[in-house]
Amino acid sequence: MFSIGLTGGIGSGKSTVADLFAARGIPLIDTDIIAHQVTAPRGVAMPIIASEFGSDFVAPDGSLDRAKMRGLVFTDDTAKARLEGILHPLIRAETERQRSEAGGAYHIVVVPLLVESGNWASRVSRVLVVDCPVETQIARVMRRNGFPREQVLAIIAKQASRETRLAAADDIVLNDDAATLETLAHRVDELHALYSKLAG
Ligand code: ADP
Repeated sequence: MFSIGLTGGIGSGKSTVADLFAARGIPLIDTDIIAHQVTAPRGVAMPIIASEFGSDFVAPDGSLDRAKMRGLVFTDDTAKARLEGILHPLIRAETERQRSEAGGAYHIVVVPLLVESGNWASRVSRVLVVDCPVETQIARVMRRNGFPREQVLAIIAKQASRETRLAAADDIVLNDDAATLETLAHRVDELHALYSKLAG
């Protein structure tokens, strides 16, 4: 199973680059989507969360009451660890299930916190980092999410530094202010050729 772990800081362009691989027929597995699904209505984590934390934490539609849970884990590290103890194995199992069923010569697994979290680097064949200057990240996320600068800085501060992420990279897509959809597509074509060859 030849597997590419795609990562990058918030606003670096992970989704943009992942979409370019998807357009070339490469299966994508997105751990953010999986993380959301396990706590969506009828998500596999919901019965466990209801019994461990109480039905107060379940919204009327059966999904996680995110605002309420954020309020709890913000001040309570034990609760945060308990929640992660429930979610992480479920997210991991679903990710592995999707990877084993992905098919194709290779697949891409999008892991925003690949460098930060555990043993991801050993679970993929290569690490692909989407990279840009911090100022570019800030400008993009302010524009995309409508967040004030301070809020973007706070998120970036919790993530690995640009240098740490680059040190973990086997391959890099530079998505700075000079990059366009065309230059990105050209770079993805190069990587697609490399990965197809290595997978074969
Ligand atoms: P991530 O998934 O890493 O958070 P996205 O792919 O969503 O990043 O990109 C963040 C925002 O910046 C999006 O609104 C996207 O359209 C925009 N963006 C990404 N790359 C470029 C680029 N090269 N030029 C202009 N805008 C870009």
